Amino acid sequence: MKTATPSRADIKIGPTRLLINGEWQDAASGKTFETINPATEQVIARVAEADQPDADRAVAAARRAFDGPWRKMSGSERGRLLYKLADLLEAHRQDLAALETLDNGKPYNDALNVDLPLTIACYRYYAGWADKIQGKTIPINGPYFCYTRHEPVGVCAQIIPWNFPLLMQAWKFGPALAAGNTVVLKVAEQTPLTALRVGALAMEAGFPPGVINILTGFGPTAGGALARHMDVDKVAFTGSTEVGHEILKAAAESNLKRVTLELGGKSPNIVFADTDLEPAVEGAFFGLFFNQGQCCCAGSRLFVEDKIHDEFVDQVVARTKKQRVGDPFAPDTTQGPQVDRTQFDKVMAYIAAGRKDGAKLRVGGGRVGQQGYFIEPTVFSDVRDDMQIARDEIFGPVLSVMRFRTIDEVVQRANATRYGLAAAVWTRDITKAHAVANGVRAGTVWVNCYDVFDAAAPFGGFKESGIGRELGEYGLNNYTEVKTVTIRI
Ligand code: NAP
Ligand code: MG
Repeated sequence: MKTATPSRADIKIGPTRLLINGEWQDAASGKTFETINPATEQVIARVAEADQPDADRAVAAARRAFDGPWRKMSGSERGRLLYKLADLLEAHRQDLAALETLDNGKPYNDALNVDLPLTIACYRYYAGWADKIQGKTIPINGPYFCYTRHEPVGVCAQIIPWNFPLLMQAWKFGPALAAGNTVVLKVAEQTPLTALRVGALAMEAGFPPGVINILTGFGPTAGGALARHMDVDKVAFTGSTEVGHEILKAAAESNLKRVTLELGGKSPNIVFADTDLEPAVEGAFFGLFFNQGQCCCAGSRLFVEDKIHDEFVDQVVARTKKQRVGDPFAPDTTQGPQVDRTQFDKVMAYIAAGRKDGAKLRVGGGRVGQQGYFIEPTVFSDVRDDMQIARDEIFGPVLSVMRFRTIDEVVQRANATRYGLAAAVWTRDITKAHAVANGVRAGTVWVNCYDVFDAAAPFGGFKESGIGRELGEYGLNNYTEVKTVTIRI
């Protein structure tokens, strides 16, 4: 759906300071850093640069709120606040989408019609849970009454990436707050603006001071201070597998805080010859190129059955040529810039590696324009499993196509990776669909669809794609501790 796009002059910027204890505060050091518009490479604003002292202040505020008013508030009251926040997000959805596009570069149409609805739905879903979190009564031997309480974990540090800033914030805040935790969020340096705006709306909704704290700043400093903090009870992280290892190490070396990780992927998208071609071509295209290819679950390894391989690849290439790369605020744009210079350079280096390793470049491969981090949507065929572009998470608009012949072969190759986030299979044969769904070691398997997300459906990784699940009841469970109470009667 196309939407009238906002004029950039009308986009309100700010807040740009840290949200600690219900107040907008400068960093203790007084330092700030720039956030850039990736479409123009121009500075949008300077935001506060949090470091350890700010993390300490935010954690202390979160602890006071946890021990104070928040702990005493009923589940239904917490739910009411989350519903109110969702309503405010809905009322401000155009402003939020515009700010997201400005800071991240994603097409405004996507921000407004995908990110915002999913974000709002996530808050509403967890608002509904807030007064339905309950334990069990358990019959045990002897003259005892035994029951469990599902209590909040406590102060939760949450560290998020830049690819879906509003949505990742919702995946973190929703279950944590519904379950009665307090939070300190560290947003990605590339995209700090929308999270702070949500913080302002949360204050307007009436969350008590200290329940929600938001830090802008860098990973090793602000993020590291939270991961190592002795008074943080849980850290929830979304980002690269490399940093995931660091977070787990920091938890192990500090206070054994609970850890959940949503990490990278190299997800197989498997197309059998019997499939309905048109939706499968669209699924192969969308599964990789959505959000500039910056999705942890991107279907970046496209396995196509030998019998239809050549025709299928031709159709995927034709579909890719229809992608409109350009100004993310233009109504007909379907692909914006990569988020920053680092990601741009990294993706271009992978394209060079694909060429050097002998994969066949079918479309794309270059930069678009001279300003902004725009990359042509790129398809390589004849990719071998051992090539770098088949093994590493590229996190950009680069699709690798491989050929396969049998189910057993493709399942084995699909699993030959350290990742296990998502997978998809396209077929009209229910037996093949089940064989792949059961055989692939991944947290999510889509059959004849891709990127279907719902706040109720759990998401997360096998293997080095993560620990724990987000969304749904499974996601909520990761924000509670079970307490067993036994009473002699
Ligand atoms: P990243 O370094 O893992 O960043 C994710 C978040 O962690 C950011 O808020 C980051 O802060 C923070 N962080 C970085 N180092 C940290 C540390 N030592 N301790 C605590 N927090 C730390 O990811 P990236 O550099 O933005 O992207 C690199 C690659 O990660 C991408 O190319 C992609 O492969 C993968 N990635 C995956 C996802 C996903 O959804 N699974 C999302 C984004 C990226 P800063 O903002 O200062 O970096
Ligand atoms: Mg930015």
